[in-house]
Amino acid sequence: MIFCLVRTDFEAKKQEGISFLLIDMKTPGITVRPIIMLDEEHEVNEVFFDNVQVPVENRVGEENRGWTYAKYLLGHERTGIARVGNSKRELGFLKRVAKQQQKNGRPLLEDPLFGAKVAALEIELMALELTVLRVVSSESAGKGPGPEASMLKIKGTEIQQMLTELMVEAVGPYAQPFDTAYLECEHEHAVTGYDDAAPLAAYYFNYRKTSIYGGSNEIQKNIISQMILGL
Ligand SMILES: Cc1cc2nc3c(=O)[nH]c(=O)nc-3n(C[C@H](O)[C@H](O)[C@H](O)COP(=O)(O)OP(=O)(O)OC[C@H]3O[C@@H](n4cnc5c(N)ncnc54)[C@H](O)[C@@H]3O)c2cc1C
Repeated sequence: MIFCLVRTDFEAKKQEGISFLLIDMKTPGITVRPIIMLDEEHEVNEVFFDNVQVPVENRVGEENRGWTYAKYLLGHERTGIARVGNSKRELGFLKRVAKQQQKNGRPLLEDPLFGAKVAALEIELMALELTVLRVVSSESAGKGPGPEASMLKIKGTEIQQMLTELMVEAVGPYAQPFDTAYLECEHEHAVTGYDDAAPLAAYYFNYRKTSIYGGSNEIQKNIISQMILGL
């Protein structure tokens, strides 16, 4: 199944007149064309709908109220995209790699410039975690995530992208080969001999998506300026 927001009233203003449909992907008229990403992975598609007919019982909720439901779902999606747990794990990995790598005869993590970047990132992540907890606790009090989810989305994805940048920086030339044979488990060891570094180039490229999906970070800034700052 795919869920789609479809225009059902052409006279209504932009965010109104949209309905929420669940569509069976086997319905005649649907064509799926894969998009292969920079890391050679297939995780997204172009989907074409040509005269697709959907039974009315597949409509979720009321006709023309789809954007209201979508906003609720997007609030949760954007809160989820913050991915604090994932970033904490990746920060642990970054520190481990930066301890293994040497600069001027000492672990890279002890280099004042590199160490300061890691510390600044860790502080941002701690602050994000507290903000996510505030949103989660207001959710338990019955208040769904509103426009503050846009702040979590921006900050969470900036942290995720910075983590991938620092990982690539930490291992330097070891990250350069795009070692698909190792990534697909065809070889036991990476071509450079440094297994930890082998996925990092692919990971770096893949994470460019995070500031786009769930609504681009520029759009989140528009939401913050209108809904929170009242500009
Ligand atoms: C990996 C991945 C998975 C995805 N999964 C899904 C999915 O499951 N379901 C789904 O529906 N979509 C999905 N998307 C699509 C995603 O939501 C859109 O790509 C995203 O919302 C950006 O929209 P767009 O591509 O139309 O860019 P556009 O709106 O064409 O924007 C292009 C550029 O212009 C900027 N821009 C546009 N309008 C403004 C403005 N008013 N002010 C300032 N800047 C602006 C944008 O920030 C962006 O940099 C996915 C995308 C990716 C990359």
